Amino acid sequence: MEYDVIIVGAGLAGLACARAVHRRKKSFILLEAEEQPGGRVRTDREQGFLLDRGFQVLQTAYPEAQKTLDYQRLDLRSYPSGIVIRANDRFHTIADPRRHPSQLLATATSPIGSVRDRYLVLKLAIAVRGVTLPDIFQEEEQPTIDFLEQWGFSHQFIQQFFQPFFAGACLDPEIRASSRVLKYIMRMFAAGDVAVPAKGMGQIAAQLAAELPQENIRYVSRVTSITNGSVTLQYGTTLHARMIVLATPLPMVKELLKTVSEPAEPAPQARSPLGETCLYFNAGEWRPPSKIPFLILNGEGQGPVNNLAFPSLIAPDYAPNNETLVAVVSLRNETSPELENQIREQLASWFGTEVNHWQLLRTMHIPYGLPNQEPPTANPYQLPLSYDTRIRICGEYRSLPSIQWALLSGRKTGEIICDEL
Ligand SMILES: Cc1cc2nc3c(=O)[nH]c(=O)nc-3n(C[C@H](O)[C@H](O)[C@H](O)COP(=O)(O)OP(=O)(O)OC[C@H]3O[C@@H](n4cnc5c(N)ncnc54)[C@H](O)[C@@H]3O)c2cc1C
Repeated sequence: MEYDVIIVGAGLAGLACARAVHRRKKSFILLEAEEQPGGRVRTDREQGFLLDRGFQVLQTAYPEAQKTLDYQRLDLRSYPSGIVIRANDRFHTIADPRRHPSQLLATATSPIGSVRDRYLVLKLAIAVRGVTLPDIFQEEEQPTIDFLEQWGFSHQFIQQFFQPFFAGACLDPEIRASSRVLKYIMRMFAAGDVAVPAKGMGQIAAQLAAELPQENIRYVSRVTSITNGSVTLQYGTTLHARMIVLATPLPMVKELLKTVSEPAEPAPQARSPLGETCLYFNAGEWRPPSKIPFLILNGEGQGPVNNLAFPSLIAPDYAPNNETLVAVVSLRNETSPELENQIREQLASWFGTEVNHWQLLRTMHIPYGLPNQEPPTANPYQLPLSYDTRIRICGEYRSLPSIQWALLSGRKTGEIICDEL
């Protein structure tokens, strides 16, 4: 049998592509190497806790997520609007005073950033609000660190705020990602909430997968090679289709393209993988000092912790019995026991020796989280439309990483190939 479309990879890009193809009534099969859909957006259950595959959030302002997902059924729970920065041996709150008036004084008197830095943040936020998202990706780009220095942000503010913020959002502590990415992220933060589904980020993928006929998704089906019209699975089965869509992470796209005798298209620039290690702790009945569970950034410029959050304090299903789940992100790409000890040591200096009683639930080492997003970056609104071959690619390969771009590139690819078929 020849399908209209074979989609390789049931992450968000592959699911969005399958959804578009299914809606246009083309025959398709979605092949996924793992036992579940979602790829990087998945949630594991452990001892009654919900552990996302690395700390991650949904920006409710993502236009493609708004279009694609049913937010109400996801039962989104938002983090408070603001952050806490750990610097100079203290916690400093910077919160949106409209939503958290009780934090007005703390925000106004916080020593994070000079008056000029705050003015520049406001100026940048206004500038970014005045441009559409597609226009942002047409603008000149440069590494964000150069952009921030040119704008005149102080070295101290870059180190205390932008560095851990960018490291959390782009796994990029050097702040080398494109200035377009900075503007996009700032716009998303300003325009919506930072949220998680009540029952874990994996619900996003589950919602998309539930829209597809289950017989059209084959799990534990790793594709090992492709041709211009067929794919071969790990155990030797070959499937045929008029169009093949690769919706795998960038390194796997490159690997699979090597198996085609004639490459479908030239490879994009080499992009180094950026990873993280996320440690999940059960802190029992312990609660953070701030009554409002803000995300915390490490502005100390040292130590293994980059950022941490308390998912169960905004979405109680993340932990059983009123216990507290702590998600700690380190950009040290390792899982050694020393890393756990060093993290406990740093957090004990922040919260007290109670941290030594926290139970480690899981250390998730994610060597490939995202590709680096240094300039030159692709414009995620410009998908290549047509080639001579029957192979198409969606996901971050010719776009950018993020839930927004995975959903957009998947849908657009699905729609375009249905027009082509
Ligand atoms: C730790 C972490 C935190 C993140 N935080 C955020 C965040 O807060 N907000 C945000 O917007 N984005 C975040 N991202 C990025 C976002 O999750 C990804 O950009 C997006 O999910 C990528 O989706 P995708 O479908 O392109 O790829 P993937 O999710 O990687 O899906 C690809 C799928 O292909 C499958 N596959 C691979 N090889 C094969 C093969 N040979 N045969 C068959 N199947 C195969 C994989 O198993 C996988 O299911 C984060 C990513 C990570 C890792």
